[in-house]
Amino acid sequence: MDLLHLNDELNIVGQAKKYGIPLWQHPQFLFLVMGVIIILSSTLSYFIGRRYITDPEVVALFVIVLTLVLLVLAFIIAKSFEKLAEASRLKSEFIGIVSHQLRSPLSNMKWIAELLASGKNNHKQEEYFQMLQENSTRMQELINDLLMVSRIEEGGLALKKKEFALQDSLSEVISSLQPMIRAANIILKVETEGNPPKVFADPRQMHQVLDNLLENAIKYTGRTKDAVLKDGARDRTVTIRLKKEARHLRCEIEDRGVGIPQEDKKYIFQKFFRSTNALRHETQGSGLGLYIANSIVKSSGGKMGFRSKEHKGSTFWFTLPIARQ
Ligand code: ADP
Repeated sequence: MDLLHLNDELNIVGQAKKYGIPLWQHPQFLFLVMGVIIILSSTLSYFIGRRYITDPEVVALFVIVLTLVLLVLAFIIAKSFEKLAEASRLKSEFIGIVSHQLRSPLSNMKWIAELLASGKNNHKQEEYFQMLQENSTRMQELINDLLMVSRIEEGGLALKKKEFALQDSLSEVISSLQPMIRAANIILKVETEGNPPKVFADPRQMHQVLDNLLENAIKYTGRTKDAVLKDGARDRTVTIRLKKEARHLRCEIEDRGVGIPQEDKKYIFQKFFRSTNALRHETQGSGLGLYIANSIVKSSGGKMGFRSKEHKGSTFWFTLPIARQ
């Protein structure tokens, strides 16, 4: 564990805020209190033992065993509190994200439908229908993601694996994201070493993984307006690299965007997690994309990870098994 990570673990007040629980219910705080109680009770039992047991070695053994038992108990209790706090955080984030991400497109649709029904601004009908379509797509995507999460949790992620070229899926994803790439002024670079070998995975699911990672890289590079106002002229390059490793193909997607704050890094692959930093830049998102992408890659026999620095950018990567020739 690096020093910065240790610092996050020890920031009990910050963590209590994140979990949304009072300090006295925080697992690490309880663990500290229990530690103090253990030290006091061990000292006390040492003095009592010395008074009633003549052999000092028996006293020492008694105190050590008692301390160990109490420590193990304290650890188990603190761990179960941690799980409860985590479950409570997930529940409130689930409710917050689902209600917000469903309510806002739904209110937009109601408002557009009212405008259409009123017959005013008839010349804008085409624009209104397009907005209706965009909002219903947003809702549909969230519902699909929620269904996918429930399938993953029930262990029912059925992958139809076959041999295919990942760069073909990549080209499809890039062309479907062209409007977003253009709107965000992104300079997209694809770097491949020679002719990348075919992989063995589910092409449809890998399409979703690539789509999520690339969409995030674009979204979290930030809007041009924000970048000029807050970050000066931000580099708007997104680079995709395909590299062959011993038995895997590695895909990296690097951006120079908002990056991820150190204290949020450990939560990034958890479902419904959205970093405060990202929320400031991008209001749309469910915090499910990376959880799903990571589960798909793991079930395909690969790994996923990232490195990131706040305000500097992020590189998300994953590996997939190379198909046997
Ligand atoms: P969403 O983008 O819908 O919020 P994801 O599961 O795809 O959900 O991502 C989870 C969180 O990880 C995001 O809310 C954001 O905080 C962070 N994140 C993901 N990709 C990036 C990136 N390229 N740059 C900065 N932060 C990122």
